Amino acid sequence: GEHATMRPLRVLLAGPRGFCAGVDRAIRVVEEAIRRYGAPVYVRHEIVHNRTVVEQLEAQGAIFVEELDEVPPDGQVVFSAHGVPKSVPAEAQRRNLLYLDATCPLVSKVHREAERHYAEGGPDSRHILMIGHAGHPEVVGTMGQLPPGAVTLVQDAEEARRVQPADPERLAFITQTTLSVDDTAEIVSVLRGRFPMLEGPKREDICYATTNRQEAVKAIAPGCDLVIVIGSPNSSNSQRLREVAERSGAPRALLVPRLRDLDWSALDGVDTLGITAGASAPETLVQEMVNALSVRFALEIEERTVKQEDVIFKLPAPLG
Ligand code: SF4
Repeated sequence: GEHATMRPLRVLLAGPRGFCAGVDRAIRVVEEAIRRYGAPVYVRHEIVHNRTVVEQLEAQGAIFVEELDEVPPDGQVVFSAHGVPKSVPAEAQRRNLLYLDATCPLVSKVHREAERHYAEGGPDSRHILMIGHAGHPEVVGTMGQLPPGAVTLVQDAEEARRVQPADPERLAFITQTTLSVDDTAEIVSVLRGRFPMLEGPKREDICYATTNRQEAVKAIAPGCDLVIVIGSPNSSNSQRLREVAERSGAPRALLVPRLRDLDWSALDGVDTLGITAGASAPETLVQEMVNALSVRFALEIEERTVKQEDVIFKLPAPLG
């Protein structure tokens, strides 16, 4: 038959992959806001870092803006899953905008941790080291929970070795939720070595979804000639998945936003292909890729699930 002429390709699908509970909730917040209040609903920053999700919500009546001054006076605005500095809801209030907060509850949890360490700048206040990437909206949002100077960003082990806090006895750390588990463990161990009084979470603040997706890609990477991570270049957890795949034994790993961005020559000489997807990438993009592969190759597909997830977050109070 026709299939006899097609080259065989083994596909290992990593599980868990794709949407996490925080992304799922953030999208539902926008959809529910449009349903209740009517279009347009403004969204400050990409609700989650995925072009496809953004385009689908735009088609339903969402308008994406970077700053609140782009929202008209009677506008309804949603804050993205990454969280926002305190100045943002404050400005929304000042301008009498109606707002909904789609910040992931696991990011909000880190905000509360930061406030607890800061203790209103009183006698128990600790200076905070935040492990994360400069400029990422989650980092901007978390650092923006506290006054300027309360938090110092530590981006890597080298910065952890160099940072000079004013009072090493009064120090705490927090982390971005979407970091590399292994890199972060190293950074935390450098900090704990230098500052034995350092307070913080038992390990770090990396969320369950980031941890599980990295474990899942580690499980398939050694057996793959190539790993494709479906996700956007501005998605931190997707970028980390690509790095983890290469460090765990895949000779090559590519970040591909969606099928149309795939360079087919990347599959030359590949017998086993691993596929995973970042926490902001819809499963439809994985299926779109697998379907296109099935037209060109005789596919043998294996699901490799390392953990079942059952996390679901409720909508914020005004929509609940
Ligand atoms: Fe929340 Fe983690 Fe998803 Fe970020 S990756 S939205 S912290 S569950």
